[in-house]
Amino acid sequence: MKKSSEHNKRYRHAHKERAAAHAIVNRAVRSGYLVRQSCEKCGAEKTEAHHDDYSKPLAVRWLCIPHHKDEHRSLLPPVGPKLWQLRQNEKRKAQRRIAAMSRPIKETKKASLAERAVELRNSGMKYRDIGLTLGMSSAHAYKIVMQPVYK
Ligand SMILES: [Zn+2]
Ligand SMILES: [Zn+2]
Repeated sequence: MKKSSEHNKRYRHAHKERAAAHAIVNRAVRSGYLVRQSCEKCGAEKTEAHHDDYSKPLAVRWLCIPHHKDEHRSLLPPVGPKLWQLRQNEKRKAQRRIAAMSRPIKETKKASLAERAVELRNSGMKYRDIGLTLGMSSAHAYKIVMQPVYK
């Protein structure tokens, strides 16, 4: 499939970039140009270099192994099968959101009831009669007319 070969290509490319960035960091640390720091989150001594952007190999953040793992879990992986899955999930979520928006809102029934109550009140009907007409207590009729929450 074209899609998957394209995907593999991108995956290999990202892998290369990452490996290159780490090689640069290792060299910089050995030469003393870059000094390994303790974990920026918890202060642990044993840390790994984390790149927010592999194209900036010397721009690193130092994180202990668990926090480094956390960081990557919270990020979208640059490429890989997981990204594809995440995109699918995002797509599905977006579709659900759109579907929810185009669906008539739950309050439609209540809204039209409130609208009718207001209409009846405007025509001069008493709350007791509005209640009887719409099948609710006069107190409730009063409440929905006075507080038209559903516009
Ligand atoms: Zn840590
Ligand atoms: Zn990292």
